[in-house]
Amino acid sequence: MNIHEYQAKAILREFGAPVAEGAPALAADEARQAASGLPGPVYVVKAQIHAGGRGKGKFKEASAGEKGGVRLARSLDEVETFAKEMLGSTLVTVQTGEAGKQVNRLYIEDGADIDKEFYLSLLIDRATSRVSFVVSTEGGTDIEAVAHATPEKIVTFSVDPATGVLPHHGRRVADALGLTGPLVKDAVSLTERLFSAFVAKDMELLEINPLIVTKDGRLRCLDAKISFDDNALYRHPDVVALRDKTEEDEKEIEASKYELAYIALDGTIGCMVNGAGLAMATMDIIKLYGENPANFLDVGGGATKEKVTAAFKIITADPKVKGILVNIFGGIMRCDVIAEGVIAAVRDVGLAVPLVVRLEGTNVDLGKEIISSSGLDVIPADDLDDAAQKIVAAVRGRS
Ligand code: ADP
Ligand code: MG
Repeated sequence: MNIHEYQAKAILREFGAPVAEGAPALAADEARQAASGLPGPVYVVKAQIHAGGRGKGKFKEASAGEKGGVRLARSLDEVETFAKEMLGSTLVTVQTGEAGKQVNRLYIEDGADIDKEFYLSLLIDRATSRVSFVVSTEGGTDIEAVAHATPEKIVTFSVDPATGVLPHHGRRVADALGLTGPLVKDAVSLTERLFSAFVAKDMELLEINPLIVTKDGRLRCLDAKISFDDNALYRHPDVVALRDKTEEDEKEIEASKYELAYIALDGTIGCMVNGAGLAMATMDIIKLYGENPANFLDVGGGATKEKVTAAFKIITADPKVKGILVNIFGGIMRCDVIAEGVIAAVRDVGLAVPLVVRLEGTNVDLGKEIISSSGLDVIPADDLDDAAQKIVAAVRGRS
């Protein structure tokens, strides 16, 4: 789960990390009000969307002006003008895709006098099974581009969970950023605070880009992005309360109600599969035959008829879907149960696109029998290869 910058900064503040003063705003007069509580004379009006690259982003509407989603204002009037321009407009950044995201919230923040911009993030490194730090002097820019062009400018190290974070980790951060004097101590303290926040809140990613040194020689987290581990949300009701559903894909929200692992993608073939590995393989083979999956969907090992029906509804509600591939391996789950679920779902929601079903495993013959005797227009497939070719052909035949 992701949250907005202003919410992430509130968490950082709670853990004692240095962030600027600021307040969120949903309307232009609130933005003015928020700014009037700040020291000034420079205020920053920041679009709150779940995507980065806002500063260099562009609004779709001409009425939103030429500037991007992070604007420096030099008076309260200017704050109000920018807020009016940005609210309700659609911001397109490198991370939003072409459709962009509508700006419904702003964050009004004290303007910082920036001397240097750095990059600092913490994430779970699957290779070492540890929390890793990623540090670079090249802040404020796209870190993927830095990793590509000048990988030597990125320093990474991980923290042993047995010892937790220690002062030497902070000195490593300071060293990587070329900090000297009192800033070294500040970096040690910041490193410890960020690590504590990361662990305490079960984060998956904590990214500060940029971390800055101000002209008066202080560290400050100028941007903050946090992703939380969904599997640990049950023990953080305070985090769940920060969820902004307007930022999430509706289909993904619906899927989470039924505990379906669903991720919307850009292709045309809707997939319903049991098991994450099989779902990945199904997506791969669709690509191999030249089409693209419209989603990743793992109905899980113990899927019931209700879950299968819900999954079917989610897939068919997606207007991009031109065909559906059901690929189920009946292990714990029996093929006849799946077949009944599929039939019930098709009867319930109707079927406007071709459907290929491939079943294998426990009670497979019974499952196939149920499907073939249902009288529904289902294309049966013998194996994964056959299934992928059939759905690709069916989708192409229609377009
Ligand atoms: P994004 O990463 O989405 O573009 P940031 O919060 O990183 O958004 O802001 C982009 C740039 O705007 C920063 O790299 C920094 O140069 C500038 N900026 C952001 N917040 C402030 C602030 N409070 N004061 C001064 N400049 C800021
Ligand atoms: Mg940023």
